[in-house]
Amino acid sequence: MPHPETWLRVTPAGLWCEPGDFFVDPTRPVARAVITHGHSDHARPDHGAVLATPETLAIMRARLGDGRAGRRQQPLRPGEVVVQNGVRIWLRPAGHVLGSAQVCLEWRGSRAVVSGDYKRTPDPTCAPFEVERGCDVFVTEATFGLPVFRHPRPEEEIAKLLASVALFPERTHVVGCYALGKCQRLIALLRRAGWEAPIWLHGALLPLCRTYEALGVRLGDLRPATAARKEALRGAIVLAPPSVVAERWARRLTDPVACLASGWMRVRQRAKARGVELPLVLSDHADWDELNATIDETGAPEVWVTHGRDDALVHAMGRRGIRGRALHLVGLGEEDEGEAETGAAEGAA
Ligand SMILES: [Zn+2]
Repeated sequence: MPHPETWLRVTPAGLWCEPGDFFVDPTRPVARAVITHGHSDHARPDHGAVLATPETLAIMRARLGDGRAGRRQQPLRPGEVVVQNGVRIWLRPAGHVLGSAQVCLEWRGSRAVVSGDYKRTPDPTCAPFEVERGCDVFVTEATFGLPVFRHPRPEEEIAKLLASVALFPERTHVVGCYALGKCQRLIALLRRAGWEAPIWLHGALLPLCRTYEALGVRLGDLRPATAARKEALRGAIVLAPPSVVAERWARRLTDPVACLASGWMRVRQRAKARGVELPLVLSDHADWDELNATIDETGAPEVWVTHGRDDALVHAMGRRGIRGRALHLVGLGEEDEGEAETGAAEGAA
């Protein structure tokens, strides 16, 4: 049986399945791509054929435009199988954002699972992560691959936000969140916590909320913040891209409370540096415990780490007898909670 490293290779364009002649989440335009989810560092424009879940394809069309979301779109639902040049391909939910999926590949009895980005904490806006057991190689991210990263329960963070809103009824809470995934999850969690009032959105966040709703995720009463009178936003919750939370856009609101929802808010320094008054630790990526538990549950004897904090994770796996390999894939981790979160690139999200 061929080892996956003989048929799934690291190339400058990303992971390439040689016998199937397709890439998973390629970083440059290719003839055939399989896409794990709609974040811009995974779903890039101008591929030939794109295979992904129907939700990911819809998100790609919404973000990239019909003309650039793949010349040919091939929807594949979790549970269905396609065969490409003898390579079996199927998808399993990854629990990261709506439509996110792990790509399972099998060639001549050898099996690899490319998990993309994932988390294990339940998310009301997407299907939960499903463990694919029995693979020879499990490919994982490691955005939060350090023992210091242990995400609190999302409900606690939402309660923190609502407590602050109750404490400062005259102020406007502006919560920074990524346009795809975090924004809709935040809204859904607020609804679950009983917040039924309108939620106001910066214009950059509206289109994907509409896409989510069209795909069956109900988000309640959403309104454009720019159209609102300043008075209407007193005591309200406004969501905006992270880059504008502490900027002029937010300062025109009534005594705004700057909040930011991100796994990185665990790091006090980052919150402070960005002028965030109320950090909310809400991550769409697995934390240290989830990464290790997931790796163990797959039973994979070998794990490849695409990007993030790979050394600690590879070391921890080694102690459990699992062979770890850091792939250092370039171009991943640029959206949502990637390293670029601290830089200017996030504005594009
Ligand atoms: Zn992602």
